[in-house]
Amino acid sequence: MAEHVGTHRILRALVEGRPQWLMARGDEAFLLPEGPYGANLLLGRRIGVVEELRLLAPAAPTKIIGIGRNYVAHAAEHGVEVPKEPLLFLKPPSSVLDPGGTIVAPALSERVEYEGELAVVIGRRCKDVTEAEAWACVLGLTCGIDVTARDIQRADPQWTRGKGFDTFCPLGPWIAAGLSEAQAAALRLETRVNGELRQQASTAEMVFPPARLIAYITQVMTLEPGDVILTGTPEGVGRLVAGDSIELEIEGIGVLRNTVE
Ligand code: ZN
Repeated sequence: MAEHVGTHRILRALVEGRPQWLMARGDEAFLLPEGPYGANLLLGRRIGVVEELRLLAPAAPTKIIGIGRNYVAHAAEHGVEVPKEPLLFLKPPSSVLDPGGTIVAPALSERVEYEGELAVVIGRRCKDVTEAEAWACVLGLTCGIDVTARDIQRADPQWTRGKGFDTFCPLGPWIAAGLSEAQAAALRLETRVNGELRQQASTAEMVFPPARLIAYITQVMTLEPGDVILTGTPEGVGRLVAGDSIELEIEGIGVLRNTVE
């Protein structure tokens, strides 16, 4: 899958023992000493090649907003209707997992499932923004897996337990910044488990695109820099068991890889 012209990669990595923000120029990573949220990014010293960095989840959100049933075919596989308005839920920041990290299947659940999703990372504080203003609030896009204990989700009237376990929100491997709203609306997404293709869709199939979601969410709550919106999963969700490896690849972003224990 090709990289889009005009985009750049923003990374978070462990550098000299602490989490730091970086930007990639080709394969080389440079510090962002003032972080990734300013209008003009200040480029610091060169740290090394991206491949050799210990990457961290490229966001430290105050909250993660999930969207239920945002692809028609996924709603159909669960036998439910697509909602008339976006269906919101929250995942706790404690569920975030680094790229390469291990998803821990909890003893409380007998059915842990993956949901491969386009993740939107917010770049600036916003409240009550219109759909037309919304894209300007986006720092960039990354891959996110909305890991779900399906049996617990179904047992409870809401989804906090089923979607809230530690390690249930792998994010990464980096943020693709600079994509236009139109580019974000036509990205191929693939989920593979142990190398086998399980989900294949385009973000064009979303019911509510990111700008609509941001406008809808910010009628309710302030979004802060680093907050993450998981935009919903296409059809093909399925089970994860100990020993599995999962890859989520989104065109123009990259590949997020995690394992399960
Ligand atoms: Zn989901």
